[in-house]
Amino acid sequence: MVIFNELYNFAGFNNFNDLKIFTTKNNLQQHLLQIQDSHRTIGLVPTLGALHQGHLSLIAQAQQYNDEIVCSIFVNPTQFNDPKDLEKYPRTIEHDIKLLEQAGCNVLFKPEVEEIYDDNEQWHLNIGELEHLLEGKFRPGHYQGVTQVVYKLFNIVKPDTAYFGQKDYQQFLIIKKMVDLLKIPVQLVMCPIKREPDGLAMSSRNIHLTSEDRKHALILSKTLNWVTSNFNINNISQLKKEAELMISNEPGVGLEYFEIADGDTLHAANQNSKNIVALVAAKVGKTRLIDNVLLVHGR
Ligand code: AMP
Repeated sequence: MVIFNELYNFAGFNNFNDLKIFTTKNNLQQHLLQIQDSHRTIGLVPTLGALHQGHLSLIAQAQQYNDEIVCSIFVNPTQFNDPKDLEKYPRTIEHDIKLLEQAGCNVLFKPEVEEIYDDNEQWHLNIGELEHLLEGKFRPGHYQGVTQVVYKLFNIVKPDTAYFGQKDYQQFLIIKKMVDLLKIPVQLVMCPIKREPDGLAMSSRNIHLTSEDRKHALILSKTLNWVTSNFNINNISQLKKEAELMISNEPGVGLEYFEIADGDTLHAANQNSKNIVALVAAKVGKTRLIDNVLLVHGR
């Protein structure tokens, strides 16, 4: 591991397989310039850290198609509408670095907040209705913060391709919209959800689940599986009602929304929607979890 920033600059660096850690834009860009100049491709995996196998699956996907993989770890304050949530967001940087080294990731970009934001910086992107549905309703301002930081990361890293998880399905749609609106020259790839063997979607927030919560949390993936199995049997509104009931009946689980949505607009789906996705958000104990499943994909 080699740390490059204003304080540490190891002149003796020469091992190409080492994970290079940058904390400043300038040093990162100097490094990436060499990659771009030699016509090698850059894949970007933006994260909030507390890495798990879900994040690593994005890195593995990026490695298949790119020469240099940049993973960013930045707990972006502007996307947290609840200061307590920001404060207690898990931070496990030493473990993260080990995982990135094992995964053969080339670069970690780990800036401090001041490196990314000037004082009193403003941002507003007109994302349209998508911003206010589902997650947007429960986390007002969240997607302004997400687009703000992802726009900055795209500008700093200038990746050929950026990798995001289906786990945050709405986030992917919104980033795609931003890329189209602002004509950002980057290809976006959505990677499948990695799950624990019992079905729970991997999430940095799972660390906060008590052992009781952990059992109750399974109702989310169980319900999504049930909806998948019954999709061709029941109609959409029956499925939604039944799914809401299944989750609401689980002790310790507070349902925020369950929606069977058009995969492009996130409005309620109809039988003719080209893409259909079932999405759920719920508080399990004190921990907010999200999950989803694709029911129809590009018919
Ligand atoms: P986060 O650190 O939670 O912001 O996640 C960083 C990226 O990893 C996002 O694009 C997420 O959608 C993706 N991700 C998170 N959890 C999973 C998972 N279980 N499977 C696949 N991708 C995931």
